[in-house]
Amino acid sequence: MKFGGTSVATLPRWQNIRELVASRRAEGARVLVVVSALTGITDALKQMCAQEDKGKRIEAAKAIAQRHYDLLDHMQLAVPDTLDARLTELAQLAEDGPSQLGELAWAALVQAHGELMSSALGAAFLTHSGLNTQWVDARDCLSAIALPNQNERTKLLSAMVEAKPDPALNARLAELGDVFITQGFIARESQGRTVLLGRGGSDTSASYFGALLKAQRVEIWTDVAGMFTANPRQVPSARLLQRLDYEEAQEIASTGAKVLHPRCLSPLREPRVPLLIKDTNRPELEGTLIGPEVREHAPSVKAISARKGITLVSMESVGMWQQVGFLADVFAQFKQHGLSVDMIGSAETNVTVSLDPTENLLDSDALAALASDLAKVCRVKVIAPCAAITLVGRGMRSMLHTLSTVLAEFGQIRVHMISQSSNNLNLTFVVDENVVDDLLPHLHELLITAGALRTDDSALFGPSWQALYGTGEVLPPAASWWREERRADLLKIGEGATPRYVYHLPTVRQQARELKSLAAVDRLHYAVKANTHPAILKALAEEGFGFECVSPGELKAVMAVVPESAPLLFTPNFAPREDYEWGLSTRATISLDSLYQLENWGELFRGKEVVLRLDLGRGLGHHEKVRTGGSGSKFGLPVEQLDTFLRLADTHGVTVRGLHAHLGSGILDDSHWGEVYGQLASLAERIGSVTFLDIGGGLGVPSHPGEARLDIAALDKVLREVKAAYPHYKLWMEPGRYLVADAGVLITKVTQTKGKGNGQIRYLGVDTGMNSLIRPALYEAWHEIVNLTRLDEPATALFQVVGPICESGDVLGTDRRLPEPQEGDVMLVAQAGAYGKVMSSPYNLRDEAEEIILE
Ligand SMILES: *Cc1c(COP(=O)(O)O)cnc(C)c1O
Repeated sequence: MKFGGTSVATLPRWQNIRELVASRRAEGARVLVVVSALTGITDALKQMCAQEDKGKRIEAAKAIAQRHYDLLDHMQLAVPDTLDARLTELAQLAEDGPSQLGELAWAALVQAHGELMSSALGAAFLTHSGLNTQWVDARDCLSAIALPNQNERTKLLSAMVEAKPDPALNARLAELGDVFITQGFIARESQGRTVLLGRGGSDTSASYFGALLKAQRVEIWTDVAGMFTANPRQVPSARLLQRLDYEEAQEIASTGAKVLHPRCLSPLREPRVPLLIKDTNRPELEGTLIGPEVREHAPSVKAISARKGITLVSMESVGMWQQVGFLADVFAQFKQHGLSVDMIGSAETNVTVSLDPTENLLDSDALAALASDLAKVCRVKVIAPCAAITLVGRGMRSMLHTLSTVLAEFGQIRVHMISQSSNNLNLTFVVDENVVDDLLPHLHELLITAGALRTDDSALFGPSWQALYGTGEVLPPAASWWREERRADLLKIGEGATPRYVYHLPTVRQQARELKSLAAVDRLHYAVKANTHPAILKALAEEGFGFECVSPGELKAVMAVVPESAPLLFTPNFAPREDYEWGLSTRATISLDSLYQLENWGELFRGKEVVLRLDLGRGLGHHEKVRTGGSGSKFGLPVEQLDTFLRLADTHGVTVRGLHAHLGSGILDDSHWGEVYGQLASLAERIGSVTFLDIGGGLGVPSHPGEARLDIAALDKVLREVKAAYPHYKLWMEPGRYLVADAGVLITKVTQTKGKGNGQIRYLGVDTGMNSLIRPALYEAWHEIVNLTRLDEPATALFQVVGPICESGDVLGTDRRLPEPQEGDVMLVAQAGAYGKVMSSPYNLRDEAEEIILE
């Protein structure tokens, strides 16, 4: 168990350490505690080393001693002999100065006293409080090794230890007792001199000891629960990483996470000793466990990090790359200037490399000197300041297809370099430094939305930093109705015939009321194609909604249940002439979306008022197949044909009363509708007859755990701003999914399980599939799936959840962590209220899922 400087600086912190050690003893473990110096002591010792005046050195040593006396006083302990001996030695070193030992060896020995003293103090405290604790001198256990290229400085102040399991040490300690305390940061070299381990030294000591003793576990106790999916200071919604393998953790540590020094993982790999990071103040939190690779996890991006201060050196030369030795000459310059290269990108006439400030002493002089030497062999450009944004996860190449939205984001900014590590663990983008702070939270969210960062796997991803440490409230997961208050009803339904769609009307009403709070919107229409159940239509009519229909069938279904007063929109697309004819005979407001309709059926529309659906040239949404704008999509009149359309309308006496645009589905970015609104409004100014603007639907609901919800208040603000500029137009919207998605679930039953590939891949079969819910197959849509029968049991195994349809695509969910199932267990597929039942089919002639309403 390793404790850092702040953890050993006060009495309450030592009492805490005592409790933690005692709890491990109670579990039957023998404990070795590794400590840092009291906070501030290492710095005080360094200052003492820099002091040439003997008198001032002695003063400094006294002040350092006093810090330890004060703490002992608090503990009501006398000065133990071990500490007394250290303080005497330190006073002597202050007196002597570096002359006898030599500057560096003396400095190393002086600085080692920080840990020697804190551990001596700790041994006394722990023993006094009932845990008999042996003080162990780390220098007797850790021997520094000599490395090639090592100068005297690195040998003494940044030493390395080769830590192989040492049964003799184990035996020696076994004779002494059960609880030990020793020092981080220090070791001894072959000539017997004290050496320091350099940066991250105390964590590395703990790892060395873990490897030497082949410990059950190394625990690093610090001020945060572990590693997170992003730096919590930049991304408060970053999630705790509960399980990582050594390589992933190493990668995350080296690309930015400060909680662990990357150096301290390598000693543990070979002996396969796991390392656990824990929060000293919140020991009940799970922490991050780092160990050998575990295979039974869904492939996932684990973290996104950003390193600032990156410098790129771009070297350009025509025709020289073919020459043998050219690269060797170039890199020799980097070596000569003492600069270590991180990433490399090469092309026929250009090689660009990155320099990482954490590995280099980068100052402008060093760079200028390098550039001028390089200029002799090629054209040099230094690009700075840059930042490296890195995605980390095992098997990165197999996840590329999930990253399309993330990659699209990089399409909007200047990317200087892309690099994929040869170990397939990371993907790095080098961009200008100033874009990073805004970009990172956004990318983190996109990774979750795209399902690339699998926050649904509760074995890997813990709570968000915000939930653990933040002060602001964290929104509870949406749609808790099926998880809690109606769970018993659903189980009862599931015990009868399945599959069944179940809709919860209070949730529909709640969503409707939320949208009614949009003060800028004058009229809301429900896009009924999402779900045409009569009870839902009725409920929304009661909430004052109008209805948007895309076919005569939908119009008839709506008119059969809603009152005469409810406004109707009819938005056909590539529909036959008869549909328009029939639509015009109803009270619905009809929309046109091409020149064809007026060119060929102009007489139909004479004297009528219509809505014109426009294509604003771009599409948005959760999947390519739901984007309804842009020339790749069949919807809407392209804006460049607007004038032609208006001339045709004039010829046929048709009045354009409204403009309409609907760009896609599942949009969670509140600024989108403001842009559409602004564009439509400025086009309407050219037309004159327009009185309302319909900015469509597409309001998304989050599906992955941790994905942010659409901010309705922010949306309202955006819309009110546009409205203030164009107060003369009424504003209409037509959401579908937002109203009904969370209100519906699909209930089905477990039929059987199957293992393939030595049980590595496990299938869980349920009694319906793409015939009832086609969204996963069609859009790769992600629906949460739970075993309702075993909702409270731990989710331990990973399954592919599949249905009984004769198609390989008949998969409801991939890589889902669920409890061990049994035949007949009731399963629930969430968020099935929108585009579920309405898209179902009789394929394979399986019975359709009947629908049940919960009031
Ligand atoms: C489908 C559709 C909607 C509703 O889309 P959602 O994503 O369900 O909100 C709105 N308007 C039109 C024209 C549509 O086709």
